[in-house]
Amino acid sequence: MSNERRRKKSGFLYTREIIVWTLLLAFLIGLLVYNKDRIFKGGSEKTAESESDPFPDDPGDNPSETPEETEPPESETAPPESSPEADSGQVVPEGSGPLRVYFLDVGEGDAAVLMLDGKVMMIDGGDETHAQNVCTWLQAQGIGRVDYMICSHPHKDHASGLVSVYQVATVGKLYTPVQEYADNVYFTSLIDTAYTEGTEVSVPVPGETFAFGPAEVMFQGPVRYDAEEMNNNSLVVRVRYGNRTFLFTGDAEAEEEADILAAGFDVKADVLKVSHHGSGYATSEAFINSVRPESCIISVGPNDYGHPAGEVIQRCSNVGAMVYETMISGTITVITDGTSLQYNFER
Ligand SMILES: [Zn+2]
Repeated sequence: MSNERRRKKSGFLYTREIIVWTLLLAFLIGLLVYNKDRIFKGGSEKTAESESDPFPDDPGDNPSETPEETEPPESETAPPESSPEADSGQVVPEGSGPLRVYFLDVGEGDAAVLMLDGKVMMIDGGDETHAQNVCTWLQAQGIGRVDYMICSHPHKDHASGLVSVYQVATVGKLYTPVQEYADNVYFTSLIDTAYTEGTEVSVPVPGETFAFGPAEVMFQGPVRYDAEEMNNNSLVVRVRYGNRTFLFTGDAEAEEEADILAAGFDVKADVLKVSHHGSGYATSEAFINSVRPESCIISVGPNDYGHPAGEVIQRCSNVGAMVYETMISGTITVITDGTSLQYNFER
C-alpha cells in the first residue's frame, strides 16, 4: 500500500470535487441569469416613473401600488399619461396663494388675468378697441411683467389687445396655437413683437403642462389642427390650484370639444370660461356634462350673433352651474385658496 496509490486516490477525489463545484456554480449562474429581470427590474422602474410624473399627487399614484403592476399597453387612442386626472387635486404649499382669476370686461371678446404668488398669466387680451382699458387695468394692479401670455387663437377679439400689453409690461413666454395668420395684422404684430422683445414663443402640444407657481397648467387642446375653422384651433387650458380647477376654452366649438373628450382628457372644472362668448355651436351637452362646473363665465358684449345663446345658458343651468356674463356683471373675479371659491363683480 504505497504512497503512490494514496496519491492516486486523493487525486481522483480532487478532480471529482472540481467537477461537482463547477456544475453547482454553473447552475447558480444559470439561475441568476434566468431570474435577473425579476430580481433587478422593479425598483429602478418605480423611480423613473415618479420622477417623470407631472401630477405626483394624483390618486392614480397611490403609494400602495405595487411595482409589479404593469402600465397599460400603449395605443394610438391612449390618453396622455397625465390624464385622466382625478379631482382630489394637490397640496397647496404653506404661505401660497390665493389664486386670483380676473375675467375682464372687454366687450365681445376674451381677456383673463391670473395672479398667484407674484406670478402673472394672461389668457387673451380682447380686441384693439379695449386694449387701452386692459393696459390701464394692468398698471392699476401694479403689473409690470406677464410671465405667461396665452393667445388662445389669432382672432382679433382675443389676440389684438395682447400687442399693447408690451407697452406696459415685459412678457416671459407666449403660447399660441399658430405663428402665422394673415387675416389679423395685430396677431402678426404680436408674433413679431414677441420675437423682437425676446419673448419665448411656443406652440404647445396637447397634454403639455407647466408650473404656474404652485398651480399646474395643462394644454388639453387643440388635439388636431382644423384647417377649415380657426376657432377649433383654440388653445384649451386647464389650471389647477389645490382642489380647484379652471377651464379656459377660447372659441373652441363642438368639434374641438369632442376631440378633447375623445382624447381622454379630464376636463372637470369648477369654473368654466364658456367657449366662444356663449355661441350655440360650442359648449355641447357632452362637454358641459364632463366639465360639470359650479360656475360658467361668459365673456361677452353687445353683438349681432345672438351671443350668448339661450340654449347654452340652459345647458349650463342643467348641470347646476351659476351663469355669469361680463356684459351684465362687468369684470368678474374668482379668488381661491385651493379649497373655497369667492366671486367678486365690478362694473
Ligand atoms: Zn372670440
